Amino acid sequence: MKKGIIFSGMRPTGKLHLGHLSVLENWVKLQKEYECFYGIVDWHALTTGFEDTDNIKENIKEMALDWLSVGLDPEESAIFVQSHVKEHGELFLLLGMTTPLSWLERVPTYKEQIHQFGQVGKDISTYGFLGYPVLMAADILVYRATSVPVGEDQLPHLELTREIARRFNHMFQTEVMSEPQAILAKVKLLPGIDNRKMSKSYGNDIALNASTEEINDKVSQMVTDPARIRKTDLGHPEVCTVHTYHTFYNEAEVKEIGAECRTGKIGCVACKKRLAQKLDLFIAPIREKRAQLAAQPNILDQILEEGANKAREKASHTLEAVREAMKI
Ligand code: SF4
Repeated sequence: MKKGIIFSGMRPTGKLHLGHLSVLENWVKLQKEYECFYGIVDWHALTTGFEDTDNIKENIKEMALDWLSVGLDPEESAIFVQSHVKEHGELFLLLGMTTPLSWLERVPTYKEQIHQFGQVGKDISTYGFLGYPVLMAADILVYRATSVPVGEDQLPHLELTREIARRFNHMFQTEVMSEPQAILAKVKLLPGIDNRKMSKSYGNDIALNASTEEINDKVSQMVTDPARIRKTDLGHPEVCTVHTYHTFYNEAEVKEIGAECRTGKIGCVACKKRLAQKLDLFIAPIREKRAQLAAQPNILDQILEEGANKAREKASHTLEAVREAMKI
């Protein structure tokens, strides 16, 4: 017996990196406990990327391969593409009729993002972008999700979903919308190789399916303690990105490495070599599973189709109840 229903999604940004792993590992864990709907939310990608859709299909495929290679299981969860389940669109439209404009205009990220995109010469002040929190609410409410795994920064969005649900129920004297609760995910933040936030756009990421050569190359570029010039210099592992990575991927040796660094007994080249080996051991099974799946594109298509069917079945029941409540 599962504890409840979960919806979560990611915009199709293409191949994922190690910085995404913590969220995905949480999803993998949750699929044992909850009935899970995991969507690649391609319509959300359009809210800011409407002019550049050339790579969207390829990005969806790459993301789905990553999800499956880290352990999302199509037997346990519905894994699908948002635009393949049109009920998301219908509920988005209907909730758009009942959601006050002022609620959307006061979303803190709305003005911030318009400003940020404006600085790079892009105007995203569209109806679609203003309405994306309603689309997000529809994604969740269409499955009557009881819970949504979120980071602290997404709590205001979830609260807005709850308000949209409450207003709909009140307006149509129904209980069709269930207010989802947050599952606060303890996400361990892995920095990029330059110690900034890991991001493909900074070029400081390590792909989830990085080859041995790519891993060696990225680890060799990692920033270390700038005070260490010679091996005998006493180091400060707490300021070193390589050491942070050892805490993630080499738990058994991290204490010993820290001590050797502090006492000048290990050089950075050797330290990086040890990390690269551990990282390669960690990534190898993900890489292999991904390569196997990528070699059989029909299987991937089938998984996404079956996922969409499973999602549609659930979502269509909600829409029936919604239409009935609205008398349409
Ligand atoms: Fe970092 Fe290792 Fe060099 Fe110490 S020895 S500064 S932990 S790379």
